[in-house]
Amino acid sequence: MNILRYFPIAGGVFLIIWMWKKDWFQPFRIQQLFPKSDKLFFEIKQSFTTLIMFTIVGMTTFVLAKSGVIKTYVYRDIDIHGWGYAVLSFFLIWLWQETWFYWMHRAVHTKKLYKWVHSVHHKSVNPSPLAAYSFHYIEAALEAIYLPIFIMVVPLHFNVLIIHTFFVMLLNVYFHTGYEFYSKNWLNHPILKWINPATHHNLHHSKFHGNYSLYLNFWDRIMGTNFPYYESYYREVTERRNSELKNRKENSILKGSEKVVREQYGI
Ligand SMILES: [Zn+2]
Ligand SMILES: [Zn+2]
Repeated sequence: MNILRYFPIAGGVFLIIWMWKKDWFQPFRIQQLFPKSDKLFFEIKQSFTTLIMFTIVGMTTFVLAKSGVIKTYVYRDIDIHGWGYAVLSFFLIWLWQETWFYWMHRAVHTKKLYKWVHSVHHKSVNPSPLAAYSFHYIEAALEAIYLPIFIMVVPLHFNVLIIHTFFVMLLNVYFHTGYEFYSKNWLNHPILKWINPATHHNLHHSKFHGNYSLYLNFWDRIMGTNFPYYESYYREVTERRNSELKNRKENSILKGSEKVVREQYGI
């Protein structure tokens, strides 16, 4: 299913934000420059590799479970554990994936693994939405196996599994979009600051050794691995965006009134 939805979604976001409405979205850009086209082709190529690895991990899990080699706890009858548990399990798998991702990410940032595996993802210093799945094949497998591990231990309704994978794919694309849409005060809010804005992972791509978490910020805060200037950089990005948006609005009002005056006096 990932194969069917990844390219239409990541490609669609790319076509709208990076191409069709590029000028309109410019104030929202985190890094002002755009990457060269060879980087974009590389991201597309590696995304294919990742989708193949995701399929291999998924099919292997399915075959092993069907043949009884492993036992999984995926169920289809919602009444077995109830709706409350279904909702809870959505958050459980999200937390588990965040934990898996953070520590796997720290591991692939060690010298040897970085050079061999993770440097592929970091070729995108200024990522596009298509960098979301731009991984070395080993990292693609590492990114995927948190799911089989989880369902071998914890019961998960089939639909929750589908919603979860779709949800995290959307977040992943968003974090690599290269644009910041969250409010300027996001990191000052006592709850929202635990949810990463796109700038958080974008900064990881441009500066490498910090900001290792993806969707939620708790591991970076516990381990002290947020970049020390993360919050001030976020402020800088969002203040620049807000002031560009304000200028654009004022200019369009000015142009509008100029047009009215011209029409009134026929000049
Ligand atoms: Zn990334
Ligand atoms: Zn990294």
